[in-house]
Formats: sequence, structure tokens, C-alpha cells
Amino acid sequence: MSNLQDGFGRRIDYLRLSVTDRCDFRCVYCMAENMTFLPRSETLSLEELYRLARLFVGQGVKKIRLTGGEPLVRQGIVDLCQRIAALPGLRELTLTSNGSQLRKLAAPLARVGVSRVNISLDSLQPERFRALTRTGDLLQVLDGIEAARDAGFARIRLNTVVMRGRNLDEVPALVDYALERGLDISFIEEMPLGEVGRSRGESYCSSDEVRALIASHHRLLDSTEHSGGPARYVRPTAYPNSRIGFISPHSHNFCASCNRVRLTVEGKLLLCLGHDNALDLRALLRRFPDDDQPLLDALHASLQHKPQQHRFNLDASVQVLRFMNASGG
Ligand code: SAM
Ligand code: SF4
Repeated sequence: MSNLQDGFGRRIDYLRLSVTDRCDFRCVYCMAENMTFLPRSETLSLEELYRLARLFVGQGVKKIRLTGGEPLVRQGIVDLCQRIAALPGLRELTLTSNGSQLRKLAAPLARVGVSRVNISLDSLQPERFRALTRTGDLLQVLDGIEAARDAGFARIRLNTVVMRGRNLDEVPALVDYALERGLDISFIEEMPLGEVGRSRGESYCSSDEVRALIASHHRLLDSTEHSGGPARYVRPTAYPNSRIGFISPHSHNFCASCNRVRLTVEGKLLLCLGHDNALDLRALLRRFPDDDQPLLDALHASLQHKPQQHRFNLDASVQVLRFMNASGG
């Protein structure tokens, strides 16, 4: 059992580790059009990322998900995965990607021990995909998904942020795309992180509405299974190998069972996605290069300040100034 426990008795056994804030896409819900990224001196080195992963696994963290930004644009990512995957006590190393680099990297990642990948996919229409990602090439991502299917990951899940007026009408097509390939797919309610230059309330679409839309095409069975995360799942009766998930920060609060913290590539430990309170582990890492104890003491103390829940609401445009790419979403 994890030694990490917060002030509400929740055990923390899941770390989302951001390896970069940079990305080759500029998704409309995640970033503003013109972004400034962190200077290299402010980001953790691969060695520092590894040290922190080791430290968390030593405290009982069982699952690490590498994310970003786009984790696969970070140089040295495969070696880092190999080292983290080999940490004794870690059950699972996973990764979330936009798919653009998977043709090249899926097989090496699977080989070094990444067991599952989540791949973002918001549209199957090339022009719309370009509009939503601002720079992305749909065919490159679909090719990346095929590479991931061939690479032998235990599971692949697609992630779709649903926005009214932008891609809600594509939900049935995205579901069919996933089911025909035996993949899982999760639909996400957009979260108000960072000023992205549009009002999120206008395009809000609840998971219940998305579910009803899918149910008009497929018979769905509620499922009690979960992957240790906030998603609630259903299974289409005709496709028992796939699950359809809903991540509903607005309509179904999932904070009571929160088991995770996030570490940004600046070395800030975010105790909750919906709050700004964070512990600066980078300063401690650099001040105590050979002694983990001060970091552990600070880590345990900080968990007492993990908020009980996020308070996202649709009226205020932005409640957390940090963008998703800087949060390790
Ligand atoms: N670049 C990778 C990707 O896009 O999958 C990993 C990082 S991205 C920040 C992780 C996930 O967060 C993606 O599935 C993305 O769709 C989602 N995301 C980004 N901004 C969001 C927002 N404001 N609300 C909800 N989900 C968001
Ligand atoms: Fe990049 Fe992922 Fe953010 Fe899109 S959601 S801009 S792919 S980090």
C-alpha cells in the first residue's frame, strides 16, 4: 500500500509526470495560439525526472503516466521510459500522446515497458482536425494509431474532448472508429484551464448528452470497472472488447476517490488540477542532490494540503491560469 496519504485519508498511488510543456500541436482547448514555453534551465533534466519517479515509486506509487505537453517530442524519452519501467514496485508505466510521433516511437516504447497508451483524437475530418489542433495532420495521427496497434500495447484508449459546435456531431463516428479496431475511447468534458481565447461555457456538452447520443446507435451496458481514474465506463454489447468512458469534471464530480498527484516539468507538484497550490520540488532537488530525505519530508507535508475537490464551474471563464499543457493533463 502507498505510504502517501492526504489529509482526507486518500492514498496516492498514481503519479502523472509531465516530461515537457512543449508540443507540436496547439489544441484550441489546451493552448492559446501564441504560447511561450519554459526556458530549458527551468525544466527538469531527464536525470531529475528519473530521480523523482524513483522517489515516488519508493513511497508506494504503483502507476506512472508520462504526459506533457507532448511527451514524445522530448529527446531521450525512450531511455527515460526504460529506466522508469524497470523501477521495482512500479506496476504500470503508461503514456498520453497526441499520436504524431507514434509511427516512429510506438514499437520502441512498447519494447521498453510502456504497457498502455492514451491517444488524443478529436475528429476524423482532416480540415476539422487541423482547426482543432491548429497545426496537426490527421493522417499522421491515424498512422500513429495503427503503429500503436501493431506495437503490442496491452491497451490503447482514444481521448476526445467534446465541444458543442465543433465535434459533438462526430461522436458516433469516433465511437465506430474505436470499436472497429477493438480500442477504448473516452469522452472528456472540457476543463477551464488557462485563457485560451474562447468561452468554454458556450461549447460545453455534458457526458450525459454524449452518452445518450451513443446510446442511439449502440446498446450500452453500465460497467463497474474503472482504471483507477475518473472515467466511468460502459460497454457496447456488440463489441465486448471495447469500453467507452466518460470523464466528467463538471457533471459528475470524481474527487472523493482521487488517488493522484501531478508533477509539472518545472518540478512543481500539483496537488489538484483545479487548484494552484503546489510544492516546488525542483528547488529541493537542486539544493539536495544526494539526499532524498528533505524531498520526502516536504512531499508528505504537502499532501496534507491536497484540496478536497476541484471547483470547476462553467460561468467563470478561467479559474486556473495554468494551461493544460503546463499541468501534465
Ligand atoms: N499531448 C498529449 C495529448 O494531447 O494527448 C498529452 C498531454 S494533453 C494535455 C492530455 C489530455 O488532456 C489530452 O487528452 C487532451 O485532450 C486533454 N486536454 C487538454 N486540455 C484540456 C481541457 N482544457 N479540458 C479537458 N481536457 C483537456
Ligand atoms: Fe499538445 Fe496535447 Fe495540449 Fe493538444 S492537448 S496542445 S496535443 S499538449
